Amino acid sequence: MKPIVVIGSGLAGFNVVKEFRKLDKETPLVVLTADDGRSYSKPMLSTGFTKEKTADELAMASPEQVAEQFNVTVRTHVHVAGIDADGHRVLLPDDHLDYSKLVLALGADTWTPPLEGDAVGEVFSVNDLMDYGRFREALQGKRRVTILGGGLIGCEFANDLSNGGFEVALVEPMGRCLPLLLPPAASEAVGRGLEALGVRFHFGPLAQAVHHGDDGTLITELSDGTRVESEVVLSAIGLRPRIDMAKEAGLRTNRGILTDRTLRTSAEDIYALGDCAEVEGHVLPYVLPLMASARALAKTLAGEETAVSYGVMPVTIKTPACPVVVCPPPADSEGEWEVTQQENDVTALFRGADGTLLGYALTGEAVKEKLKLNKELPALMP
Ligand code: FAD
Repeated sequence: MKPIVVIGSGLAGFNVVKEFRKLDKETPLVVLTADDGRSYSKPMLSTGFTKEKTADELAMASPEQVAEQFNVTVRTHVHVAGIDADGHRVLLPDDHLDYSKLVLALGADTWTPPLEGDAVGEVFSVNDLMDYGRFREALQGKRRVTILGGGLIGCEFANDLSNGGFEVALVEPMGRCLPLLLPPAASEAVGRGLEALGVRFHFGPLAQAVHHGDDGTLITELSDGTRVESEVVLSAIGLRPRIDMAKEAGLRTNRGILTDRTLRTSAEDIYALGDCAEVEGHVLPYVLPLMASARALAKTLAGEETAVSYGVMPVTIKTPACPVVVCPPPADSEGEWEVTQQENDVTALFRGADGTLLGYALTGEAVKEKLKLNKELPALMP
């Protein structure tokens, strides 16, 4: 019997396995993963210095434990080279594997802009447990970190590394924290919270180069001529859904791998979920949507065709220096932000022309309004 093959051992891949095994104990399952296959919760990577956790301490289970618990074969350090969609097989470096159904849980790649300089190769990004282990090791005995990017990951690391005793400089060309998620008043509240922890911001210029300085330092050169000195540089600029393999196999892609509401791609018996997927136009690189997708897909794989529903999908940003909860309005929404504010407590409500609440951003004490607002918001994909 050909197995169901899952590519990816992140939260999306392992949650499909877990949900599927609640419904079907026998059908053979194989997980192929380019990484070491340990089960972990990625959001914990940006609270590891506050909680003083090493990579080993963040790992929840070894691949062998996952294999035993869920009756699944987990093949680690295997980089899948391609998909033969017509032949129903995945292409491995020197072999192939036949599948009955294939699940793509490929995640997203970190993206760093083209930087010059002789130390570019030393710029870190943290997108999995192995990256986190290397980053933590590189910080041993170091004091100063430069973070490129002030989005969710950059701001969370700025808060976490400050809590861990590091001096943090953060470079954000769009001029404020979380510029793509928050309206300006809420961004400024987060900025003040992080500044009070000691974070120094370079708002406006772009990072252009990273050079070696004296005594093991790195110099990050900005477009306004500023030179930021630190011992470690972390890039947190952006993530892009991993679509190349699907595209090469002839699957339809846009920003992500295109699926319908049953997580079915344009190719027969191939499904996608998590950070790599674009589900009926939604690219939502967060945990809540992938958990909902994993539950629905498990049912479909077990024979009961099931569409995923996305309710209200708030994102909690782990910046305790100024707590944030945001429920961004859907991408093409028309409307305006209404902001009320008391110092760092900001309530920003995004309303359509007819007054309907379409999204919100809350900071500081205002995060307590989350539950009330969730009841008022329409489901994202009912
Ligand atoms: P991944 O975990 O990236 O897994 C992808 C898997 O695919 C990996 O196992 C990889 O090895 C494998 N793979 C890829 N290509 C191949 C190939 N060719 N061959 C074999 N294997 C391959 N979201 C929230 O909702 N709340 C948070 O607080 C939050 N905090 C975050 C903090 C950080 C620091 C980061 C980076 C993200 C955070 N997120 C948060 C986002 C959330 O963690 C992700 O949406 C989620 O973990 C994505 O899971 P995934 O399984 O889709 O992808």
